[in-house]
Amino acid sequence: MTKYVYDFAEGNKDLKDLLGGKGANLAEMTNLGLPVPPGFTITSEACQAYLATGDEPAELAAEVDEHLIALEKTMGKQLGDPSDPLLVSVRSGAKFSMPGMMETVLNIGLNDTSVLGLAQQAGNDRFAWDSYRRLIQMFGKTVLGIEGELFEHALDEMKADKGTASKPANDLDLDAADLKKLVDVYKVIVRDHTGEDFPQDPREQMRKATRAVFESWNSDRAILYRRQERIPTDLGTAVNICSMVFGNLGMDSGTGVAFTRDPGSGARGVYGDYLQNAQGEDVVSGIRNTLALQDLEKLDKKSYQQLMEIMATLEGHYRDLCDIEFTIERGKLWMLQTRVGKRTAAAAFRIAIQLVDEGVIELDEAVQRVNGTQLVRLMFPQFDTSGNPQLIGKGMSASPGAAVGKAVFDSYTAVKWSRSGEKVILVRRETNPDDLNGMIAAQGILTSRGGKTSHAAVVARGMGKTCVCGADELDVNTKRRFLKAPGGIEVHEGDVISIDGSSGAVYLGEVPVADSPVVDYFEGKLEARDTTDELVEAVHRLMTHADTARRLRVRANADTVEDAERARRFGAEGIGLCRTEHMFLGERREHVERLILAEGDDERESALNALLPLQRWDFLQILTAMDGLPVTIRLLDPPLHEFLPDITELSVRVALAESRGEKNENDLRLMQAVHKLHEQNPMLGLRGVRLGLVVPGLFALQVRAIAEAAAQLIKLGKDPKPEIMIPLVGSVQELEIIRHDSERVLREVATHSGVDLPTMIGTMIELPRAALTADQIAEAAEFFSFGTNDLTQTTWGFSRDDVEAAFFSTYLELGIFGISPFETLDIDGVGELVKIGIQKGRATRPNLKVGVCGEHGGDPESVHFFHEVGLDYVSCSPFRVPVARLEAARAAVASEGSDSR
Ligand code: PEP
Ligand code: MG
Repeated sequence: MTKYVYDFAEGNKDLKDLLGGKGANLAEMTNLGLPVPPGFTITSEACQAYLATGDEPAELAAEVDEHLIALEKTMGKQLGDPSDPLLVSVRSGAKFSMPGMMETVLNIGLNDTSVLGLAQQAGNDRFAWDSYRRLIQMFGKTVLGIEGELFEHALDEMKADKGTASKPANDLDLDAADLKKLVDVYKVIVRDHTGEDFPQDPREQMRKATRAVFESWNSDRAILYRRQERIPTDLGTAVNICSMVFGNLGMDSGTGVAFTRDPGSGARGVYGDYLQNAQGEDVVSGIRNTLALQDLEKLDKKSYQQLMEIMATLEGHYRDLCDIEFTIERGKLWMLQTRVGKRTAAAAFRIAIQLVDEGVIELDEAVQRVNGTQLVRLMFPQFDTSGNPQLIGKGMSASPGAAVGKAVFDSYTAVKWSRSGEKVILVRRETNPDDLNGMIAAQGILTSRGGKTSHAAVVARGMGKTCVCGADELDVNTKRRFLKAPGGIEVHEGDVISIDGSSGAVYLGEVPVADSPVVDYFEGKLEARDTTDELVEAVHRLMTHADTARRLRVRANADTVEDAERARRFGAEGIGLCRTEHMFLGERREHVERLILAEGDDERESALNALLPLQRWDFLQILTAMDGLPVTIRLLDPPLHEFLPDITELSVRVALAESRGEKNENDLRLMQAVHKLHEQNPMLGLRGVRLGLVVPGLFALQVRAIAEAAAQLIKLGKDPKPEIMIPLVGSVQELEIIRHDSERVLREVATHSGVDLPTMIGTMIELPRAALTADQIAEAAEFFSFGTNDLTQTTWGFSRDDVEAAFFSTYLELGIFGISPFETLDIDGVGELVKIGIQKGRATRPNLKVGVCGEHGGDPESVHFFHEVGLDYVSCSPFRVPVARLEAARAAVASEGSDSR
């Protein structure tokens, strides 16, 4: 038979699944011999059964009764006894903490008669009536569903009657008679809104409160919170029934919350708040100003010292920062809750290292105590919004950071203004590859369209530049250089705005920002050992250990020298993806246009010859920056039309020329080419390997440039390690043709230069067909790199440029997925293809090198998956390299732990 109820003495901290965090930890404290008011926990399995059937499991009532009788015996009091009642609290407590999301009812057991008994026993009328009014208020709100404001309003009116204009009353000014009157008012509210009287039967109160806690698992706010925090929906909550102790018995009583270290900064030493003559939520609800925990020492030295001892015991026992709730009832200390406490990112790093130094944990465990998301938070400057800046819009948090600058609406102005020393934010409806310079020049990028894998987002993340994208309430007019925000607000070119890439918020005006010392440290501007900054020191020590603990190698996606150099400083062990498309833009466009328009071999040759030295120079620089480390260079990937002028602009140009009676032959040919190359679905069209097959000489040119650059560097005594990567391969035949051609070029350059060029040729796996036929593809590839952006796009059939902004919010609301599959790898679908690809690829070629270079390579959760499936490396944007290093170590330590178990 399922056991649904556990006495506190029967549980322990490892039973969180069953007893919830609060119940398991109350049990643990009970077993440690700490002063916990006796009680019992109804399991989350009972909740699951209730939620599944709409009714409590049949055995539950009898089990609860049995435990209640035992509790009454321990306490020497009975629930609802008119002369000396036992009172209990009914508190929610799920496996994962969901602060304030679910319900709690205190003082169950009071009614019109037991309130008098309580008053007499306590020798304090005020206390008894205050407890009763709290019960009706909490019960009314959470169990009976009455608007909480109605009770608060009545309480406020009572205070207003009591006080004067110059000295308003607070809750302590209300005496027993006032509170008795308030109870009457509350009872009327209950009757008016439910048609029934407040229940006088204590067992009915307890049963109903328990049900309400069960049901609160599915309240709107709890559902929303779970979705955001990615907590599974089917866990349910446990319910703790705990004998009441009272912090509201007078000034020798009180209640408080405390942390064993400062959860904000991570500083050593206890930290907390205390409120005299108060109960439950009073401390956090801000009804009166609290005292600092240290003040308790003066008020009640004995309790304070006992509390300090208990906190030390708890830290020693949990081997981590703990937070606690406690109550002092007439000089006697009671522990109401403890758990391993939440903390800020900075505190997490500092505390992990403190615990190592205190001999409490080893470095392996310390690496588990922090995570990549926290590291990201530490790396980006943040806004200080305490001055309540004016929010004018909200988009997607595409690339974290806090950027302030003058709004500019085109890249040209962005570059021009930034050259003259202005800080600018580039505002566009969406960006395209031609905006690269503007993006580099800007402090941050704001777009009104596009999702987290839109061009703006991907490029900004790559550069570590702040970006908010898809802020669709903002109407961006690039022609007239202004944007319109809701409420008739207009931002014109030159007006200052602030964008928060971590929250997606867009503010009018300048919001103050603070720089990150952690980035300075990674940049090498701040040597950890030269600084007294405990945070930087902690990051340094944890990252150093992470590098020894991880198995996965970490490379960067970088296609400029600046990015490559930064990636190296940030710990990258090579480049996993050097995209080459930007090398064909700007001034080089004219050669690409000539290549596309070429009629006959001569014209084509001439265009290719013009591009060759430029490409060679690109690779010379990148290979130099990454000397000695592998650099995977991907041959041209995007659809050709992206290199041609915009069709509308071109049409206007041709029409204007015609109206003047002129005829520009080149423009006319361009028009024809644009029409010819126009595709309905360019992402599924002429791109990647298909380009290499259709445009003669294009890939050979790139391979030659790579080979010549490498040969030149080898002659200079350097150690270039280029790897050639073919994108968007779907069949081995495609790859074989390109491979054959590339090998010929490599041989030619080797012969000509007299240098040995052992260059690996591999492919991206970014189409489902490539993954499914990886055994064949591995015949022609020495390495695979999973392009999980395209693989996600083609597995789901989601256009990566459109869907996030278009309908992902609905999908997230409907719970179809908890997070965009473009952000965290969809393990069940796309992940399965990755597994198949690895397994089939290695079946053909056991030493096949396998990595990932899609955006997921730097996503903490996805990195763990890549570790588990046995990839050799992940490659991500330079700014995410430290995150990937840390997460790769955490994954390795975690799997070692599970292997040895
Ligand atoms: C990918 O598709 O995952 C990839 C890395 O290539 P790109 O984003 O350039 O298409
Ligand atoms: Mg791709």
